[in-house]
Amino acid sequence: MKHEFDLFVIGGGSAGVRCARIAAGHGARVAIAEERFWGGTCVNVGCVPKKLLVQAGEYGAWADDAAGFGWTIKKGPHDWAKLIAAKDREIGRLNGIYRRLLDNAGATVFEARATFVDQHTLEVAGKRVTAERIVIATGGHPVRLDIPGAELGIISDDAFYLETMPKRVAIIGGGYIAVEFAGIFAALGAHVDLVYRQPLPLRGFDQDLREGLAEALKANGIAQHPGCQPQRIDAVGDARRITMKNGHTLETDLVFFATGRKPHTEGLGLERAGVATNPVGAVIVDAQLRTNAPHIYAMGDVTDRLNLTPVATAEGHALADSLFGRNPRHISLENVPTAVFSTPPIATCGLPEEVAAARGPVDVFVTHFTPMRHTMSGRNRRTMMKLVVDQKTQVVVGAHMLGEDAPEIMQGLAIAMICGATKADFDRTIGIHPTAAEEYVTMRTRSRVTGAAQAAE
Ligand code: NDP
Repeated sequence: MKHEFDLFVIGGGSAGVRCARIAAGHGARVAIAEERFWGGTCVNVGCVPKKLLVQAGEYGAWADDAAGFGWTIKKGPHDWAKLIAAKDREIGRLNGIYRRLLDNAGATVFEARATFVDQHTLEVAGKRVTAERIVIATGGHPVRLDIPGAELGIISDDAFYLETMPKRVAIIGGGYIAVEFAGIFAALGAHVDLVYRQPLPLRGFDQDLREGLAEALKANGIAQHPGCQPQRIDAVGDARRITMKNGHTLETDLVFFATGRKPHTEGLGLERAGVATNPVGAVIVDAQLRTNAPHIYAMGDVTDRLNLTPVATAEGHALADSLFGRNPRHISLENVPTAVFSTPPIATCGLPEEVAAARGPVDVFVTHFTPMRHTMSGRNRRTMMKLVVDQKTQVVVGAHMLGEDAPEIMQGLAIAMICGATKADFDRTIGIHPTAAEEYVTMRTRSRVTGAAQAAE
């Protein structure tokens, strides 16, 4: 039976838009449905507006730093409403670009929710359409903790639209979103409490990064509450009181849940298409992004593997090329670089020392220093850079950095790591002087050896 479309994409975020656009470019008859906003989380309530807010915070500190270089800058108060209005204009512009990309590619666009009727049929905008292949790219959404008073707190979607900047904010969680917003609010003048249940923030990241970040948060005046888990939240007049499981209480003006995200699969009718999900509701896929249902694929955050925009975009592109471009390929999830836009930022590629060492002995090179700028600005800011090298092959298996420009530097290192660069390759590369990045090619003295054969040293 001939279907109305060759491909129907559900969700107009990073993965969905790229997949639809490239597939249409290959000549497929493509439709895409988005019920909320074009560009999805990243463009609207994620990466893009978040980075603009991080940049807003940086100006305040730079104005202070300038005094060390001879400038007299009188810093006025920050205007949050003006920042949000400027950010909204920029996001509106990007929304338009995403929408136009689809129109120009010749895709049929539905600004509506699409739900499954069966394996080839969807209900969208009050009608039924059929497609040979269907892609689920519906992303995820932030979740609050399931505790009494949780409705008194906000989630990251709300944080981008606050009418006023809170004087005090308590952020629950120690992951990407928590540490990024802690930096934003602190840089813009709020008192920030960061409440997390681990001993250090960013579980799963390299230990040196986590320790360095905890120190940086402290230097930024952020009050950390490690080992704490909220039990309830109460309103006390306009303020909010958080009671922890250990009995401690904390008073604040705004409670912000940064406690993870959930795949967006409820109400999609996946059961009518026979698409399997895991216990957290993520669509289960193989390396080719195929679900268990024939001709149905899923990609991006709805699959809850590596929830990063560039991964989703790359997957969308690869699937479109594979299905319609006579160029079958898939995206490797190894050596995917990632950054946390904390203040200062973190960037990482490959394995944390602890994970690499569990596989075999590793040579570890670590350096800590005060960046050149801050020897004059007087700001208490440190940089940490680190390489983890497989002792047997000398391949660099982990690169980690906490410090200014870390994400910009890590992108280039990731290329080297994808190419399988060894420590000797790093060593024979000439540095660019004076930069922080040159440390990556000048670290000669091994800091330690860790891993299984440590005793052999
Ligand atoms: P994360 O999974 O990174 O962090 C969630 C945090 O909430 C963790 O600290 C976790 O603690 C804590 N938490 C979860 N459940 C509970 C609980 N029941 N009680 C107390 N604490 C709890 O999620 P985020 O919301 O920060 O971000 C979601 C994902 O989005 C990220 O993992 C990342 O993939 C992506 N992202 C990427 C960004 C980037 O590339 N810069 C920026 C923002 C998001 P614990 O560690 O103990 O589980």
